[in-house]
Amino acid sequence: MTYTLEGRTGAWEIVCGLEVHAQVISKAKLFSGAATAFGAAPNTQVSFVDAAFPGMLPVINRECVAQAIRTGLGLKAEINLWSRFDRKNYFYADLPAGYQISQYQHPIVGRGEIVIDLADGTTRTIGITRLHLEQDAGKSLHDQHPTKSYIDLNRAGVALMEIVSEPDIRSPEEAGAYLAKLRQILRYLGTCDGNMEEGSLRADVNVSVRRPGEMYRTRCEVKNVNSIRFVMQAVEAEARRQIEVWESGGEVQQETRLFDPNRGVTRPMRSKEHAHDYRYFPDPDLLPLELDPAWIAELKAHLPELPDAKAARFQRDYGLSAYDARVLVAEQATADYYEAVARGHDPKQAANWVMGDLFAALNRTGRSIADPPVPAASLGRLLDLIADDTISGRIAKQVFEEMVETGADPVAIVEARGLRQVTDTGAIDAAVAQVLAAHSDKVAEYKSGKDKLFGFFVGQVMKAMAGKGNPALVNEALKRALS
Ligand code: MN
Repeated sequence: MTYTLEGRTGAWEIVCGLEVHAQVISKAKLFSGAATAFGAAPNTQVSFVDAAFPGMLPVINRECVAQAIRTGLGLKAEINLWSRFDRKNYFYADLPAGYQISQYQHPIVGRGEIVIDLADGTTRTIGITRLHLEQDAGKSLHDQHPTKSYIDLNRAGVALMEIVSEPDIRSPEEAGAYLAKLRQILRYLGTCDGNMEEGSLRADVNVSVRRPGEMYRTRCEVKNVNSIRFVMQAVEAEARRQIEVWESGGEVQQETRLFDPNRGVTRPMRSKEHAHDYRYFPDPDLLPLELDPAWIAELKAHLPELPDAKAARFQRDYGLSAYDARVLVAEQATADYYEAVARGHDPKQAANWVMGDLFAALNRTGRSIADPPVPAASLGRLLDLIADDTISGRIAKQVFEEMVETGADPVAIVEARGLRQVTDTGAIDAAVAQVLAAHSDKVAEYKSGKDKLFGFFVGQVMKAMAGKGNPALVNEALKRALS
């Protein structure tokens, strides 16, 4: 089913592609040894190369190249053994060299793909056109002085991967799912931290609309959208704007726009007449990048298991549903935690505890799965106590809450609070007799055919035993007493 937007004159389809700038995780910049840590004081991480002092020469950082190759492999893309750096010339105050070193005609990574997961459980494959390496620019600070702008060059020269998709995206949901999946893959690979608030991942969204069955119409680019939710909103807002233009007899002009999240609309930034002529040419200071296939093979051999493969394995090895597997592999740390609990325990039960009680505890305490209030080993010991009938599932919920509160071990909590399940049939029979005596009217109703009352008796016996009666034994004792 193709997603369409309804205009005044009929249905419209969305055609969308994303260009994502992902900051490479590396200690040093793409062409200099300066540090890349986020949040450092302005201009404390700037080398002469980054500041474009005359005569300074760029030297390629091998780790940044490795990160681009890993990312390409993770996107099932072709790695180009020969690529080249070009100069993209433009003037801006935060670009001291007057050009950005980028890869124009010969990117390091070619065609690949991402399988996106949609809310209805289906998947779609979105093509990757290319991935290239380039430098980031510095940052202009306009809010530090009443009449002056300041320049911070800490970010200047930091390695970026620009990842360009095919125009395969057909709805706001798909745009969000694409960015979410790309971010997830990058985080698994350890090639970008995916932190959109800090600007480590920024999306430019290309949108056009068309009548179903048509070829492409003119597109507009919405620049620098910095959250998954805003990407979805920007696609929808820009598509609706274009539909309105076409339907009122106008023509969409190719231009660059900005999304205003407060008003939920896009507004023009620059039109095609003002488009830059970047005068690209090969950077004479850098040799073409030639890769050794053996190095690529080595990087490939050390790639981590990626989310799709992990989710498939969780379904196969642990018998999980597709939905549960997808939730548990969302973050590498969640998957690791789950596997630590699932090993040696019932995997479905482990999944329920992680996705239910643990996730709720993380929400409540504001902790992350990487720093959980209950370590995986402790949750495992709690499941052991259920498995060997020391406590019931219901008591286990109480014990878990106390583990979250105090960090204590489940075995210690059960002993200290006397929560051991009662399996002594004498004590259970006594509780049953007491309950039936107190509810002789209900016993009569039950015996005259009101079977549903059995659950009521179970509840009353459990209550009388402070929840500690072994549920199976309580059931047996009640059946015996009522027959
Ligand atoms: Mn770029």
